[in-house]
Amino acid sequence: MDDVTAILDHMNPAQREAVSAPQGNMLVLAGAGSGKTRVLVHRIAWLMQAEGLSPYAVLAVTFTNKAAREMRTRLEALLGISLRHVWVGTFHSIAHRLLRTHWQDARLPQHFQIIDSDDQLRLVKRLLKDHRIDDERFPPRQVQSFISGCKEEGLRPHQVDAHGDAYLAQMVELYERYQLTCERGGLVDFGELLLRSLELLRDTPALLAHYQARFGHVLVDEFQDTNTLQYAWLKLLTGMQTPMTVVGDDDQSIYGWRGARIENIRRFEQEFPATKTVRLEQNYRSTSAILDAANALIRHNAERMGKELWTEGARGEPISVYSGFNDLDEARFIVDTIREKVEEGFNRREIAILYRSNAQSRVLEETLIRQGVPYRIYGGQRFYERLEIKNALAYLRLLLNRDDDASLERVINVPARGIGTRTVEVLRNRARHSEVSLWQALHDSLLDASLKGRAATSVRAFAELIERLDNDTAGLALHEIIDHVIERSGLIEHHRSEKGEKGQARVENLEELVTAARAFTQGDAFEPPEVGEGAVALEAFLSEAALNAGDHEADEFEDCVQLMTLHSAKGLEFPVVFIAGVEEGLFPHRMSLEEPGRLEEERRLCYVGLTRAMRKLYLTHAELRRLHGKETFQRASRFLRELPEEYLEEVRLRGQISRPVTTRPTVGRSRQTTVDGGDELPLLSLGQRVSHPVFGEGVILNAEGEGERARVQVSFEGEGDKWLVLGFAKLTPL
Ligand code: ATP
Ligand code: MG
Repeated sequence: MDDVTAILDHMNPAQREAVSAPQGNMLVLAGAGSGKTRVLVHRIAWLMQAEGLSPYAVLAVTFTNKAAREMRTRLEALLGISLRHVWVGTFHSIAHRLLRTHWQDARLPQHFQIIDSDDQLRLVKRLLKDHRIDDERFPPRQVQSFISGCKEEGLRPHQVDAHGDAYLAQMVELYERYQLTCERGGLVDFGELLLRSLELLRDTPALLAHYQARFGHVLVDEFQDTNTLQYAWLKLLTGMQTPMTVVGDDDQSIYGWRGARIENIRRFEQEFPATKTVRLEQNYRSTSAILDAANALIRHNAERMGKELWTEGARGEPISVYSGFNDLDEARFIVDTIREKVEEGFNRREIAILYRSNAQSRVLEETLIRQGVPYRIYGGQRFYERLEIKNALAYLRLLLNRDDDASLERVINVPARGIGTRTVEVLRNRARHSEVSLWQALHDSLLDASLKGRAATSVRAFAELIERLDNDTAGLALHEIIDHVIERSGLIEHHRSEKGEKGQARVENLEELVTAARAFTQGDAFEPPEVGEGAVALEAFLSEAALNAGDHEADEFEDCVQLMTLHSAKGLEFPVVFIAGVEEGLFPHRMSLEEPGRLEEERRLCYVGLTRAMRKLYLTHAELRRLHGKETFQRASRFLRELPEEYLEEVRLRGQISRPVTTRPTVGRSRQTTVDGGDELPLLSLGQRVSHPVFGEGVILNAEGEGERARVQVSFEGEGDKWLVLGFAKLTPL
């Protein structure tokens, strides 16, 4: 029994109650850092040890593959046994597992391929073109999100009622055609994985009975971000009989834009029988300054279920706010501070930089590189999404499935082999008319000689190449297959001949793919068992690549600063956190400003961001930022104003970042002679002498802006020139 009680060590009474509750439906509803994920892991261990549940009878659903891996590792450590076969994964990976095992019942080809959203978009674009549909009235991204949206709601084309609405009817028709193309090519998108596996279970009673009997307990982390389809899937799989433990936080629901439904939390309480609700109120992650500030922020939201969160932890340091002169200055501040933190003894991996939009990473990356600080982008710059990798994967997919049109289109002329867009167009038309795949159309066109001359020669050479690659790799190990394909397809040579570092990086990436394949078969990847050989291994590898594209890690062991979007930071924690770009229009995102619901979601995202920090939090913003190729003036985010001042501390501009006059953002604006920082501040003018509590006395050289954006450049004796924000700088006129 010793082992069993050890599972409850270091748990507070509410956590203990949740972990050791008798089997039955349970909802753990609690704020950030209160130990929800920890409770979930310990509950699995408890169910196995105290309730005698077999590891095979557990199904645990997490939000990312990384979280799934972590859960498995933590469980193994708790229980001291290997748990390779426990079903722990994301909704997508579990759905994929079901479809892979029961492909026939799911009416899928054995080697069906997962397509990511890029492939999906390309497919949609092609459909629009093929059917001569105006892509201004039907922008490809909109069509794509319509299709995904339908799938998330569990709707097939015939189930969408267009109410005689011509526009909607056209969308539905596109959805139908898209679906046909996927069916023909054996392609499955992310939404399809779930919908298909739901239909598989629903329409195959024997299978459903099997899985309902198999799973003794189902557990779900981050329940607030489940969508309608996932909820239906859970309902079906458990038959509302198998007990479920779900944990979540309504204040952290950040995927509404992707169909997530916070209401699922309430629905769960109401629909699943005899649900016990446990609330956890103690936060173990953050200092009280960070936690109280986050609590104050989220109180600005109206739609809340209401929770309390407190900590016994120390107040800690205030949250530092840095107002950068521009985005470069912001990045420089962040990287300088990181270097200081590392000198103080923090590991780099304990430091995270979070941002709202992916595009913000570039400037940060460049600064990190320049200063020689190793970093890693988590969930962003994805190895498997790089051009050369996608090309290599397309060849590999063709080996398994010639009818994969998306892949064929991708590489038919890469490297260039004289197959022009016109030829491809001809093949496409033929494929559409005869309702066959491009590969089939290509063969038909060679057979009846409708392709002639150079075009025919090149197309034939391509077809022969694919067949030859397939033959020559039969019986080889996975990494040998990949090695062979990237060499003989000419891909690697193609990039070798490219000039400069880019080509070199692409060659290295291709080589890295071979390394990844070797690691995959040796079993250090997320799902080690039964990789098999040849085509089976290749198929598993390709699926893995598609599934992991979202959160693949290049090197888990190097000590790197972590960069990621706020969305991908969910569930994680770091001793030191920077949130960059806390500006109106950027965060909250400009798309959310019009709609109160979306704005609340942005605020929840901010709450998620703040609560990732354990000990020290920095919020930074820039006054001038290059966005979409244009320089724009930015205002500090309303979220900054919503944080009580008592928890904040303005970082003073330091000597090293005083700027030469030429980089000032005053170009094209009239030169101000006075500056008004608002009612509570004195009116200042150029040439005036002022005193600053830290920098001493100086003269105002320059001024710009007014109100809270008013800034002055002051030349301090012995300290050099500095730009100061009036609202913070506490300048006294002399
Ligand atoms: P989030 O909402 O961000 O997902 P969470 O509620 O899942 O957070 P966890 O990640 O499980 O919270 O826990 C937060 C931190 O607090 C972790 O470092 C965890 O180990 C620690 N923790 C949780 N409960 C306790 C406890 N009783 N004693 C000590 N540390 C704890
Ligand atoms: Mg968690």
